Amino acid sequence: MSSTGFNSQNGAGGQPYANGPSQNPVALHPSGPGYNMAHQPPYNPTQVKGPMPPGPGLYNSGPYQPVPLVGSYQAPPGQPMLHRPSMGPPQPMTPPQSASPGPGLRMPPAQATPPPPVSANSYYQHPPSWQYGAPPPIGAPPSMAVPQHGPVANHVTSSPSPAPPQLSVGYNAAPPAIHNTMQPLGPPATLQGYTQPGSAPPMNSMVAPQSYQPGHIQTPGNGAPFPNSLDHLETGHTMTGPAPPPGPPARHMGQSYPALPPGYQNTSAPPNASPMHHPMQTPSQPYSHAPQQYQQTSAGPAQLSPSLAGLSLQSQTPEALRVVNLLQERNLLPPGPISPPTPCLPQDLQKINCHPEVFRSTLTSIPQTQSLLNKAKLPLGLLLHPFKDLTQLPVVTSSTIVRCRSCRTYINPFVSFLDQRRWKCNLCYRVNDVPEEFMYNPVSRSYGEPHKRPEVQNATIEFIAPSEYMLRPPQPAVYLFVLDVSHNAVETGYLDVVCQSLLENINSLPGDSRTKIGFITFDSTIHFYNLQEGLSQPQMLIVSDIEDIFLPTPDSLLVNLDECTEMVQDLLKSLPHMFGKTMETQSALGPALQAAFKLLSPTGGRVSVFQTQLPNLGVGSLKSREDPNQRASAKDIQHLSPATDFYKKLALDCSGQQVAVDLFLLSSQYCDLASLGCISRYSAGSVYYYPSYHQQHNPAQVECFQKDLKRYLTRKIGFEAVMRIRCTKGLSIHTFHGNFFVRSTDLLSLPNVNPDAGFAVQMSIEENLVDMQVVSFQAALLYTSSKGERRIRVHTLCLPVVNSLSDIFAGADVQAITGLLASMAVDRSVTASLSDARDAMTNASIDSLTSYRTSVLTIQQPGLLAPACLRLFPLYILALLKQKAFRTGTSTKLDDRVFAMCQLKYQPLAYVMLMIHPALYRVDDLTDEGALNISERTIPQPRVQQLSVEKLSREGAFLMDAGSVIYLWIGRNCNPNFLTQVLGVPSYPAVPQNMTMLPELDTAESQRTRAFIGWLREQRPFFPILHVVRDESPLKASFMQNMIEDRTESALSYYEFLLHIQQQVSK
Ligand SMILES: [Zn+2]
Repeated sequence: MSSTGFNSQNGAGGQPYANGPSQNPVALHPSGPGYNMAHQPPYNPTQVKGPMPPGPGLYNSGPYQPVPLVGSYQAPPGQPMLHRPSMGPPQPMTPPQSASPGPGLRMPPAQATPPPPVSANSYYQHPPSWQYGAPPPIGAPPSMAVPQHGPVANHVTSSPSPAPPQLSVGYNAAPPAIHNTMQPLGPPATLQGYTQPGSAPPMNSMVAPQSYQPGHIQTPGNGAPFPNSLDHLETGHTMTGPAPPPGPPARHMGQSYPALPPGYQNTSAPPNASPMHHPMQTPSQPYSHAPQQYQQTSAGPAQLSPSLAGLSLQSQTPEALRVVNLLQERNLLPPGPISPPTPCLPQDLQKINCHPEVFRSTLTSIPQTQSLLNKAKLPLGLLLHPFKDLTQLPVVTSSTIVRCRSCRTYINPFVSFLDQRRWKCNLCYRVNDVPEEFMYNPVSRSYGEPHKRPEVQNATIEFIAPSEYMLRPPQPAVYLFVLDVSHNAVETGYLDVVCQSLLENINSLPGDSRTKIGFITFDSTIHFYNLQEGLSQPQMLIVSDIEDIFLPTPDSLLVNLDECTEMVQDLLKSLPHMFGKTMETQSALGPALQAAFKLLSPTGGRVSVFQTQLPNLGVGSLKSREDPNQRASAKDIQHLSPATDFYKKLALDCSGQQVAVDLFLLSSQYCDLASLGCISRYSAGSVYYYPSYHQQHNPAQVECFQKDLKRYLTRKIGFEAVMRIRCTKGLSIHTFHGNFFVRSTDLLSLPNVNPDAGFAVQMSIEENLVDMQVVSFQAALLYTSSKGERRIRVHTLCLPVVNSLSDIFAGADVQAITGLLASMAVDRSVTASLSDARDAMTNASIDSLTSYRTSVLTIQQPGLLAPACLRLFPLYILALLKQKAFRTGTSTKLDDRVFAMCQLKYQPLAYVMLMIHPALYRVDDLTDEGALNISERTIPQPRVQQLSVEKLSREGAFLMDAGSVIYLWIGRNCNPNFLTQVLGVPSYPAVPQNMTMLPELDTAESQRTRAFIGWLREQRPFFPILHVVRDESPLKASFMQNMIEDRTESALSYYEFLLHIQQQVSK
């Protein structure tokens, strides 16, 4: 066999990496390359919110004291009232895990000693701009040395020493022998037609599971577990917020600017869409397909030379660097979706690279040095969607998972084979032996071609992990539903929807014969349900002592779903009526969550909490902090950080026991999402928010809730997961964004992982990447599938290294940059202030364009100049400033704002971009020209319009896709054909006020419109409500607020914003 191709591709022909370390300096350092303690300083625990309670645990974990029943709650007829049982032995799961790991070792145990949470941007405190990726100061601040003094140290005190390293051995087990079975993953309920990038191994060839050399060659020597020292590197948290210090007053822009040319002003009545108003508009823009334009075009032997990778940009001016004067070119949007830039790699490397929807970088060309990165003034970071539903995913069953002996990187397409028997790690450059078993290729069924193995042909791959990757039998799927049944909750009618949806989907819950399920309801007391087989009906058990929550019958509250389906169904049918007449208004959410935690502690699992009001009883009680008079404040917004540590601490307890909490908030009143949301944020849960939910008054919201629930209940889920991100030596990660708990510098604890969660990380360049042509990033997600398999999903991204500013700019991914900045700004809003975050975002665009002007442009021209690849940057920044999360001067409910912040942090980039910059289409004249054809459906593809009222026409109908909501705006003089053929009404006045659904009319226009909307909806995991908007509609204001390019009373128009930036850039 010849491994030449791979050698060459990966630049390991023998020389390119000659200067790379042949000995991994961190070979004995289990944290992988570059993740040493020096990275900890950024995690400066500045956010201590208060002294932690002493003692081993937050909750009383001692033996229960018999307490007389306080039976204040009247059980519904037929339900026995529970008396606190005479206490038997304490339940085994009660003590916090950190105190005693107990019989059931947790996969990621070390998280029981959570480090002090810190601000992601704590070292970027003062300048209102970010120093992207500045290397953290060397030497940990003293506070880091004693994590147990952090705010969550209640866990730590009981277990001051790091968790035993061997606990996570499995994750780091050395590669033993091979034994492969390729098997296709059944097509998951996928929402997106993702196909494996590249043409490498035809997956069909893997379709038939092939077993060969079954169950053999376990090389015990190799199997010796590497002590999982990674986990003792506990570091700080990235996502907390201390009470924001009083920040500087917001910088207001917009008053001091010159009057605008017509067409930039937001007028209440849309002007006619006369072409006179936008002479710049030319349908065929030269850069409409810009992202693809600087692909390597070389073919043949040339592309085998890795040195070309970094050079290709210099010979020509790529489209990405075309100079655009933003003040002159107004019509910057491409007509369709914006594709990410293609990294400038040799074609065969690029075609095998990780798909950008899964893994992308803000800079597709990595600067050689930190100082170069600093000059560019662009943030360096990665955006991940690691558990995305994929239509095609190669799955390898193997007793040998080949990994680097030094840094534990999984073998991947970007390693190099020195010869048949040795491969060189692309992250730490250690030379590893190719295990004998790896010489056999299960795809081609041939021997001696290790470089053709699926692991080396796919940048995204999944392994079914052998037993070394397990510390205990994989946990079963466990689902616990915690339902608010107070008067307020019952009044909204949400309980019917939840129960109905569960009844309909009970057989589709991911799981196997071991799946368990349980229910808790609560108002002023906590109600458990004994669903044990053999009972004639579900038995309700009421615990009214919410000060000291206990489990009345610990063994029968979580039951096997298969065995007890009927009992569960009985309960679901009766629940909605059981509380129909309740007058109980109090809500003991905190105690209910404590109960849920106790119930799931022995196994781990998922808690789904449904809450409809501010919790006002027991631990975790909250008070309204919102001042409605401040909703439109032009100043800083208060109360973005939690009012109490309770939810965060409980979340960390949950995380330690592999329990994730998903929060469904259905409320018309302020619920303090900033506090409640912590329960999900730190336990890797999700937050769903349905403001003004009501069964009768808000049918659109009900539909949305129903659709979301169905997806939620049936989507893929991974349990007891951890995700580690490794990168080539020299690069390092310093801040994570998303919902999780950071267990060590590069390890995220994810009690649950779901296919709709996104993550971001900020990177810095710690050592110069001189002599490197490419660098790689690898995300490995180890999880337990709902079928009880331990699996590892691995994504590897390879990017070129460049040494000139122009190359860095040429590779800038403006959407990824915007997404990362949004996450950083959320952190900044909480840790510093909203105005500080706003200033930092504005300065981000100013700084990068200044750098471009002064360091890249060789010929100075008047105007505001940007490279074509960043032409949308100021627009996106302005959009962020006007986004619900960050806007000022526009009435915004505090919970709405906080929810938007949550979404910006944990949604995958594609959805974040729609939230930031919605897509506007004219839809009254849809045609099949340029339409997509997807499974015999024709999907029109109207052109994306600028977000300005000048694009609206009273004769037209316009659809605005804002991610979680879609508006269909109908012009007053809308084409009657559209009204009749699509809306089914005779005239404009007949358009119903609250129309949220299009009638299914048998007309071409109706079919086209519905096909288009349906297609938009299919592309996301949540259900966007459709609102038909007329001039008189209350929602018209929301629609108009998304007209980002227009001026409002409190915010600049795009043109004004550009002038402001130009002023700063020219300084
Ligand atoms: Zn390595």
